[in-house]
Parts: sequence; structure tokens; C-alpha cells
Amino acid sequence: MDKYFLAIIGGGPAGYTAAEMVSKAGKDVILFEQTALGGTCLNVGCIPTKSLLYGAKQYYNATHAQKYGVTAENVVFDFAAMQKRKTIVVRKLVAGIKARLNNGHCTVVNGAARVLDSIRQAWRIECNGETYEAENLMICTGSTNFVPPIPGIKDNPAVWDSTDALAATELPKSIIIVGGGVIGMEFATLYHELGVPVTVIEAMPTILPNLDQEVVQVLLDKYRKAGINILTSTKVESIEGNTVSISSSPSFPSSPSLTSDKILVSVGRRANLQGLEALSDLELNRGAIVIDDFCRTNLPNVYACGDVTGKIMLAHVASRQAEVAVSKMLNDQIVNAQMVNYRAIPSVVYTNPEIASVGLTEQQAADMNIETEVRKLPMTFSGRFMAENEGETGLCKLIIDRRNQTILGVHCIGNPCSEFIATASCAVRNGYTMDDFRQVVFPHPTVSEILHEALH
Ligand code: NAD
Repeated sequence: MDKYFLAIIGGGPAGYTAAEMVSKAGKDVILFEQTALGGTCLNVGCIPTKSLLYGAKQYYNATHAQKYGVTAENVVFDFAAMQKRKTIVVRKLVAGIKARLNNGHCTVVNGAARVLDSIRQAWRIECNGETYEAENLMICTGSTNFVPPIPGIKDNPAVWDSTDALAATELPKSIIIVGGGVIGMEFATLYHELGVPVTVIEAMPTILPNLDQEVVQVLLDKYRKAGINILTSTKVESIEGNTVSISSSPSFPSSPSLTSDKILVSVGRRANLQGLEALSDLELNRGAIVIDDFCRTNLPNVYACGDVTGKIMLAHVASRQAEVAVSKMLNDQIVNAQMVNYRAIPSVVYTNPEIASVGLTEQQAADMNIETEVRKLPMTFSGRFMAENEGETGLCKLIIDRRNQTILGVHCIGNPCSEFIATASCAVRNGYTMDDFRQVVFPHPTVSEILHEALH
């Protein structure tokens, strides 16, 4: 039996990045994927949602173009056509990954893999009745939607998770979204922009609780004004058919139940540990695999990357972890500077306007007893923003360490902040001081100039 240098379970952003790197280095790698290459992100996550959101934004912009002096009449959308386009986008990207792995050193096996054991310094893996051996094992099995223990949720055709919502051929007539996190607010945006009445139910006192709350407030104000019903500090007690019973809350004191066509549950995701049962000594923490700075688990030659590590469930974290793990595997001399810097991971919420952030929030810095200086400006201080975002104010906040003037965090709301948050990531990652960042030249006129403006 051939022995591979590396066996990877899971072909999402972590798995395919690792497979490509190892195979390009001339080592033989085998990648097991039970559904489709690209994982959640490409098939039922980031890419399909962004494709649909872009369609919704086109419709929304067309119907709200008067503020730019444009009147469009009889604007209609075709949800089936949006879905069709989404499928084509996904298919093309999956084909692109397949092509990248077709380099003579990577074998892709379509099936559910199961770890058997480790003998003679090789990990043995079973898939589709065949046994494979590899010197190193990388677990990239991702995560699945968490189903909370709410009575009436299981096997209820009115209840969707994000995968059901993405697959639906028709729009719901109305929707209740349980969980005002990233998935919940992106779907709230999609449905609202396509004219579907939306109610969001969030257990915490605020939506998007992990983000800068001043930034989130800008979104909340806009969405509430636009008619999205957002209930915070509200818990779902039970679901019966398409009726949701809720706890009374300050924002919703009177009626304890709400009815809608569909109920989307988006209350987080959990690490996927299927197929790993034989690894009984694998160290876990709160259901996720514990890793060190180089993505090594406590078992010899076993690495884990991506959502399964429970670190930060983002595709770009997964692929960066894979780069670090493979670098370590190929060259044990890799230095600490090449580790994943979890403090400089940018994140984006694709609401309209978008929210983009990197580094510490004001609150997180305060919790760590870091004395900060906060620089903030409405986005309207950017000429380009003014030209292209009629009626919006936006906000850009820089969190600065008062002791040494380094940039600890940047938090923005306003389109298209997703496209320039990487600039802020460089500043946070490289420990730029305010003065260092001031010396970076931003092209004019761009919305990114708001970062420069906020420093003056
Ligand atoms: P999340 O953790 O972002 O949000 C879940 C929300 O549900 C939280 O606000 C939580 O307080 C709330 N909640 C939990 N239990 C509840 C209950 N019983 N009733 C009401 N509210 C409840 O999780 P998610 O939105 O499901 O997203 C899952 C993961 O996928 C996250 O890690 C997210 O970062 C990632 N993701 C990222 C993007 C992006 O980068 N743009 C998009 C989608 C998903």
C-alpha cells in the first residue's frame, strides 16, 4: 500500500489550501471530501450568500435610485434566476479548486472518511471500503449548524437552517430569524431587500454581540427604521408549526407569540467530529479540537485546521491555519512570527451597509485593562463615500493603545468597507503606530481614505 505524506479529511478552505501547498511541494497528499470540494464556504456559505445578496442589492438599488436622480419603473426580480446564477458561480469556483489540485501529487477521494488507527508511524484511514495510510493527518472537517434544544424545532418543515434557506426555490412570504448573529443579519438583509417581512429574535441585549456596539447601533437604527422587526433580549420558548412562542422582553412586552411563513434558525455552528471516534485521546475543548500555535493537536503528526478547531469560524482563518500547519509539517524550523495572529483577523458582515472590523473593540480593550484612545469619524468625511452613499452616515472607529500609540483595532460600517479592511489588518498585524499608519498613502478619492482622515 502506498503511504501518503499527508491525509486530509475535509475539502473546505483549510483542506484544499493544505492539499494544494503540500502537492505543490512535490509530496503526495490524499484529500477526502464527502460532499463537494470547497466546503461550507463555497457550497452552502459565503459564496452562495454573497451571490444572492448581490442580486438583492441590485434590485434594492434599482428601486431606491431616485436619490441619485434615477427613476426606474416596473423593476422586478426573478428569484429563480438569482438562484440559478448562484449555482453557476459556485460550480465554477468548485471546478477551479479541482483544477488547482490536479497537479499529479494530489488524490481526491469522494466519500466519508473515518480514522482507523495509527500503526508503524502511519495513520490509517478508511473511506468507501478502502484503507489508506499517511505519515501525517490533518483534520479539516469543519462545522455544522447548531440545532438548539427548542421544543418543536426538529423535523418541522417550517423551520430552516441556512442551508435550507440557500436551497429554497421560492422566497418565503415572511420570515422569523432566530439568532441575530452574522448569518441571521445577512439573511435578514437578503429577505428585507427582496420585500419579505423580517423579524429577528436575538437572545442577547444586542444583535451581533461580538462586534463594536457603536457600529452595530448604526445598522440597528437603519434596519429598524426600514421596518425590520428586531427583538433583542428575547428568547424562543417553543415552536409549533410556523408559530414561535417567545419570552416577553422590554422591546416586545405584550404578545408572546409570532407567526411567519418560515423560521430560520441561525444560532451558531458546532465542530464536526464525525469519523474521528477512534481518536479517543484527541484533546477537545467545548466540543472543538485543541491545537497549538502551529495547528498541531495533542496526537503525534495530527493537525487540525478550520472551524473544527473552534477558534474563529471564518474561511480566511481556516486557510491561514492550513498555511501555517503545512509550513510546520514541511519545515520544522518555522519561526513564531509565522504563526496565525488571531488578533489581526479581519471580519465582515455583509449587511447593507457592510460592517468590517479587525482587532480589539473598545470594550474588549477595556476588559483587558488597556487604556485606549478612540478616534472616530462618520464615513461622510470621505468624499467618495458622500458621492456614492446618499442618505448614509457610516462610522469608522480606530482603537489606539494610549501607552504606545499602536493601532489595536479598526471598526467600520459603510459601503464598501469590506474592500479596505485588509489595509487596517496590515496595520494591526504589523503593530503600526498612528504615525506609521499616517505615512501610508491612500488613493483619492476612495472610501478607504476614512482611515487616514480618522488619524488626523
Ligand atoms: P453567531 O455566533 O454569529 O450568532 C448566533 C447568534 O444567535 C448570537 O447573536 C447569539 O446570541 C444568538 N442566539 C443563540 N441562541 C439563541 C436563541 N436560542 N435564541 C435567540 N438567539 C440566540 O452564529 P451564526 O450567525 O450562526 O454564524 C455561525 C458562524 O459562521 C459564525 O462563526 C460566523 O462568524 C460564521 N459566518 C461568517 C460570515 C461572514 O464572515 N460574513 C457569514 C456567515 C457565517
